[in-house]
Amino acid sequence: MVEQLQSLQQIQAAIAAENLTCSALTKHYLEQIKQTTNLNIYIEVFEEEALVRARELDAKPTSERGRLHGAVIAIKDVLCYKGHSVTAASKILEGFVSPYNATAIQRLLDEDAIIIGRVNCDEFAMGSTNENSHYGVTRNAANPDKVPGGSSGASAVAVQAGTCLFALGSDTGGSVRQPASFCGVFGLKPTYGRISRYGLLAYGSSFDQIGILSNTIQDAALALEIMAGADEFDSTASQKPVPSYSQQLNFEGKAKIAYFKSALEHERLDAEIKAQSFAFIENLKAKGHEVEAIDFDFLDYIIPAYYVLTTAEASSNLSRYDGVRYGHRSEEAKTLLETYQKSRTEGFGIEVKRRIMLGTFVLSAGYYDAYYTQAQKVRRLIWERTKAIFEDYDFILMPTAPTTAWDIGKLNDDPVEMYLSDIFTVHANMAGIPAVAFPLGTHSNALPIGIQLMANRFEEAKLLSFVNSLS
Ligand code: GLN
Repeated sequence: MVEQLQSLQQIQAAIAAENLTCSALTKHYLEQIKQTTNLNIYIEVFEEEALVRARELDAKPTSERGRLHGAVIAIKDVLCYKGHSVTAASKILEGFVSPYNATAIQRLLDEDAIIIGRVNCDEFAMGSTNENSHYGVTRNAANPDKVPGGSSGASAVAVQAGTCLFALGSDTGGSVRQPASFCGVFGLKPTYGRISRYGLLAYGSSFDQIGILSNTIQDAALALEIMAGADEFDSTASQKPVPSYSQQLNFEGKAKIAYFKSALEHERLDAEIKAQSFAFIENLKAKGHEVEAIDFDFLDYIIPAYYVLTTAEASSNLSRYDGVRYGHRSEEAKTLLETYQKSRTEGFGIEVKRRIMLGTFVLSAGYYDAYYTQAQKVRRLIWERTKAIFEDYDFILMPTAPTTAWDIGKLNDDPVEMYLSDIFTVHANMAGIPAVAFPLGTHSNALPIGIQLMANRFEEAKLLSFVNSLS
């Protein structure tokens, strides 16, 4: 019976009817985690602790229960949870225990969420497949020979495989939405600055945003509403008031939607994904919405600019892992310089090293203007054009990924090909706008297909309600 409970509303109704307790629910998920160990989803399961908390919550009088009573969640291993290890799936943070809670985590706990474990990801959230992890690859539950996407791959599989109600991920260039589409779940990346980044291990600070992977858009809306809002620990967290997203899910009227010809006719786009996307567009039109093809000339500039900017930011952010302050310290090192060099050499994986080197190069004195400054200009142009589009349209429709999930190992030796697969997700991060990926259908290869909608900055309420109206 518990397997059928896919949303918090259903769970809370079952608890209210005394058909379910937090303890029974937690046990169910723990059992499900044990049944799916072949997928390698969790780096650590907080079994005892989750059960203790569930019992405490069961004992709480109904009137004192938080809004997330009954929500058992998983967190990507880039979020600080006080007293628990956090490693970004990297050897360099092995053994590091977080002394504080990320703001997003604190706010979920304050509403009685139960955190059942921390899940795998690409090292420091760099990747599109979850293969770049010190803890090994996570497998897609729809087909264990396929990648789950990345970097929040295991967050998506945690939901897909029924091991939790929803999971937190982070999205710098698509890391919540692409795995959501590869695994057939919902993925929400909010506006940059909507959720505080305090306690989120940094990759590219001007892009990073915490996101939610869930079975339903309602759960994503509630989780967003709880986590979002100003935070004195993160000056980039917006001061804008937070709407009651979960109470505003009724979309009224007709929407005006744009899609980019250059995206839906892109040579990289799989023919079936293209066909299903166009069928979806026809469906929207049949419901009375206006959908129009528009020109967008920047698509092919997005990936190069993104990889210049994020690697630049990463090279700076990751300089703090020096073998002195956190985690792994080389035992071979005899001098301070050797401590830096050997600890970093031993601690970081190959993709992270590649990006630190690329980022250091694009920021170097002789090349700064040619790469970094140039990429910043591209970013500005993309935002200007995007803003102009939203003067005429409510939403932009875009495929989430050019293909369905591919075989484990397929792109491991071809980083550029892997980077190019981010072509449709990175736009939202470049522009700082919110985007939701949602399930569209199934491919003839039996894997899930997703699609995404984007809205103007801070228009999550409109975006979520529209996506809700489609289901
Ligand atoms: N695949 C992209 C990258 O490797 C996105 C990662 C992310 O959003 N964290 O940078």
